[in-house]
Amino acid sequence: MAVRSAMHHAGATALSELLQFPVPATEQRTLSCSCGQRAHYRELRSKPVLTAVGKVEVSRPYYLCPHCHAGQFPADAELDIENTEFSPGVRRMQAMVGQEAPFDHGRQQMKLLADLEVTTKAVERTAEAIGADIAAREQDEIHRAVQLDLPIVIGKPIPFLYVQLDGTGVPVVKKETVGRAGKTEGQPAHTREAKLGCVFTQTTWDKDGYAIRDLDSTTYVAAIEPAEEFGKRLYLEVWKRDWSHAEKKVVLGDGAEWIWNIANQHFPGAIQIVDLFHARQHLWDLARKLYPNQEAEQRRWMMIHQNMLDGGKIEDLVAALRSIDSSISELAEKIRVEAGYFEKNADRMRYPEFRRQHLFVGSGVIEAGCKTVIGSRCKQSGMFWTVRGANAILALRCQHINGRFEDYWEARRA
Ligand SMILES: [Zn+2]
Repeated sequence: MAVRSAMHHAGATALSELLQFPVPATEQRTLSCSCGQRAHYRELRSKPVLTAVGKVEVSRPYYLCPHCHAGQFPADAELDIENTEFSPGVRRMQAMVGQEAPFDHGRQQMKLLADLEVTTKAVERTAEAIGADIAAREQDEIHRAVQLDLPIVIGKPIPFLYVQLDGTGVPVVKKETVGRAGKTEGQPAHTREAKLGCVFTQTTWDKDGYAIRDLDSTTYVAAIEPAEEFGKRLYLEVWKRDWSHAEKKVVLGDGAEWIWNIANQHFPGAIQIVDLFHARQHLWDLARKLYPNQEAEQRRWMMIHQNMLDGGKIEDLVAALRSIDSSISELAEKIRVEAGYFEKNADRMRYPEFRRQHLFVGSGVIEAGCKTVIGSRCKQSGMFWTVRGANAILALRCQHINGRFEDYWEARRA
């Protein structure tokens, strides 16, 4: 550690030397200003910059436009240190630790792993700024995708390509839930729904015919935003994953309406599947209401009805539910709603047919994603997010998990 400290110190001294820009030559003392006029060289100005080897001092020419009074430091643009006192290398570290864990934890990691002293606030600001920049670049790409203005992906055929969607609540600060009803009637909401989508591929199945997901093939998108916006975001991701070369396309989710709206709008022709375990859960809820505290009766009822569900005989199941005689109006309403759920989703519940095609029928991947992508970073106790902050961190986190973090820095350099 002591040697590392000394090496950093020597490195910082050497780097500071390199970062002393000379006074520009006479013919380079004006440059164009964004107002259309010319800015003039004024003087050398210095500022501290924290780099991977510690604090350095950079001294560079300052230009001022006499017409619009805008100042500029061309060297800052070249070094990618405009409006910041952190080098790109340090900002990359802050972004990485900031997407992984609470910001103060990130500050401690910076100290231990890189011997760099930064404040918790600095980790937060940098991570959010980079996340916001990633999100903005993504919006630009989404716009081009919607305009069908993206280069064609050239790849080999993909046997199975899956899109899964889900939502999970992220705890937010009070102002983000104004006018929104919570889950409990009369109570204000404490969370906002973050939507998560994932894309993965399958090439084969096991000896019993069950689908096997391709290793490391999953990528994610996540944001707190309306379904319409999220649909476009997911469309871009699916497009990047070479949708047009997929032989079988599948959209998998629970019964939520927004999921199927997105599927119909952006992924026409895909096989739609309601997660089998969600569908079973609907039956279990009903069994508990029909036979409160009678476990044996619940199980007996489940055996009959789950067989219909697993067997894809949804019309029979709906008829069976509708034939239940209930005098309690609350229960009658529950039965009516559940029968409607199965009826509406009948074609998404042909499980034996899906299994024959060796398809996944469960949304385990997206549910695990809700925990690893969103929950572990955004839902720890004591966390309250702004929508802006959460979306920046989610954009950053997906970029990292999708293995595209370095692509972002490449694009910045370009
Ligand atoms: Zn100007």
